Amino acid sequence: MYRIGDEEVRAVERVIKSRQLFRFNEGTKEVANFEKELSEKIGTEFCLTLTGGTGALISALVGIGAGPGDEVIIPAYTFMATALAVVAVGAIPVITEINDSLTIDPDDVEKKISKYTKAIIPVHMLGLPSDMSKIMEVAKKYNIKVIEDCCQADGGSYKGKRLGSIGDVGAFSFNYFKIMTAGEGGALVTDDEIFYERALIYHDGGTAFRPHAGGLKTPIFAGAQLRSNEISGAILREQLKKLDNILSDLRKVKKSFMSSIEGQKNIKFIRSNDIEGDCGSNVGFLLESEAAARKFAASKGINAGVLIDSKKHVYFDWDPIMNKRGSHHPVLDPFKLLQNKDLNMNYSKDMCPNTLDILSRTVIVGMNPDWTEADIIAKVEACKKAAMEL
Ligand SMILES: *Cc1c(COP(=O)(O)O)cnc(C)c1O
Repeated sequence: MYRIGDEEVRAVERVIKSRQLFRFNEGTKEVANFEKELSEKIGTEFCLTLTGGTGALISALVGIGAGPGDEVIIPAYTFMATALAVVAVGAIPVITEINDSLTIDPDDVEKKISKYTKAIIPVHMLGLPSDMSKIMEVAKKYNIKVIEDCCQADGGSYKGKRLGSIGDVGAFSFNYFKIMTAGEGGALVTDDEIFYERALIYHDGGTAFRPHAGGLKTPIFAGAQLRSNEISGAILREQLKKLDNILSDLRKVKKSFMSSIEGQKNIKFIRSNDIEGDCGSNVGFLLESEAAARKFAASKGINAGVLIDSKKHVYFDWDPIMNKRGSHHPVLDPFKLLQNKDLNMNYSKDMCPNTLDILSRTVIVGMNPDWTEADIIAKVEACKKAAMEL
């Protein structure tokens, strides 16, 4: 969360006074309008608002028809929700190396493709765009779908296209820790009408009772309840208005920070797949060794950790996946399903050595769009000093 205030207060007030808090209404239509505005911003035909990013990923997987018998390729460095979403639809996550851009390694993606591969989920971690050209090339070659996990990269872009509009489906999160927020929330975007309809049906178990039910091309199947509401919708509309300013300020801060520090002894940044499209929320330093990374991160004024210590975002931290406890019920557990018995689920702590090497040498320094020139200088000085002392 970066910027929230009076505009959101007034939006919430407007909704509460209308007394129409349910999203499928004929009055305020906050969620419906947010969907129009977000798809316009991202550049896709369809958008569906959801309760969260995990719900968006699950609905996206339901949309493309992923399920038992399918492998879904995900990066070894992401929030566990990416893996959980795959398991939630009965499919198996295939854990794949990242490279020095901190995003999925397209060469390892190609190595991990099998006759069971249904989809790839590139994750734009820390606001950093994945190598979408290469990923789309591989996906086309093997005829598999691409779901972009944009949960940490709301509004970012790659080669001039907004993240989420390049793959078959894009998934966003608006939880408290993301660039845009309503406390919790998410959305998916797509150009594919059938993927959209399937996600729409899945996300609302009451679809049969809605006015739009009659217009659907897809027969209604049993779904869950991942609907948004008018309060969230109204907040998100205000957040969306602020998004491009947040991003341009983040990018300005990042540019100023990086240019003040570039070329200094012992300073090497992580590689970017598109520095222009990068959200600007983080700067990654790739150090010579794990010891150097630890020393750098612990220096005064850096206020950062080494990525391998995340406890949440490295594949070996994902206990339910590593231990193959894929469901509350053994018969529903994708790791035990007959349909999945030949699939790639040989997980071990050392299965992605490149990822472990990179993450053990990377320190991330977070940027803030509201930093003053003095704030930037203070952070630059701290990093320069830390690098000098290595
Ligand atoms: C936050 C996040 C999610 C999940 O989003 P929620 O809104 O918390 O469900 C998924 N993937 C990544 C990479 C995330 O950072």
